[in-house]
Amino acid sequence: MRRKLAAGNWKMNGGGAELTEVEALLATHTNPKVDVLLCPPATLLHRMGQTIGNSAIATGGQDCHQNENGAHTGDISAAMVADAGARFVLTGHSERRTDHGESDACIRDKTRAAWDAGLTAVVCIGETLAQREAQNTLDILIGQLAGSIPDNATGENLVVAYEPVWAIGTGKVASLDQIGEVHDFIRMRLERRFGEGVGRSVRILYGGSVKPDNASDIFDVSNVDGALVGGASLKAADFGAIISALEASI
Ligand code: PEP
Repeated sequence: MRRKLAAGNWKMNGGGAELTEVEALLATHTNPKVDVLLCPPATLLHRMGQTIGNSAIATGGQDCHQNENGAHTGDISAAMVADAGARFVLTGHSERRTDHGESDACIRDKTRAAWDAGLTAVVCIGETLAQREAQNTLDILIGQLAGSIPDNATGENLVVAYEPVWAIGTGKVASLDQIGEVHDFIRMRLERRFGEGVGRSVRILYGGSVKPDNASDIFDVSNVDGALVGGASLKAADFGAIISALEASI
């Protein structure tokens, strides 16, 4: 059985003052029935871990460098993310692909570095609006899955997040049919590449304008094992409601 996962990506938002949101979330979700992950900016990773303490919420980085160390000003390695208390790291978020020109090959190297550091990588994939309108969605995803995920994936070291680029931060959500088609397709590709056992154990998250009012419907779609949430993860009330919706879907 795949355990459901609600993951929050704070992007470039939040400082020490916003840790009160984490405290509020812990107060309402002391013992969640699903896995909960928060990915704050790197500057907050350690402090957020301290705020969370021994409770059930995990932390993750938003990115890591593919190299172990060296002359890479401004970057952090996967081992540093782990050293700051994280158990997860996002790789290949579309904002990294766009803002930093990250290729599938680069994301594959980052994912491998994450695994070497003992982290679970949440590998993000998704098509742009132009690619969807040109009916290239599944081909784009085939390329991203093959190019961004190294061999030796397992249900423990890999989570895949399907995030249509046109739905991220736009308020536009993919339709339930679109989500279902893509998630079933990703499951099939994972099983084909890694074998049925591994392919069935990897969690597939949907991301793109998930909010308290649309989460339940999305969580009912086949092969949706949870969500990667941006904007709505910043407020405990919103993220808490999404976690509750995921718990209710079990
Ligand atoms: C994201 O940052 O991965 C994301 C899905 O953002 P939002 O929920 O704001 O669309």
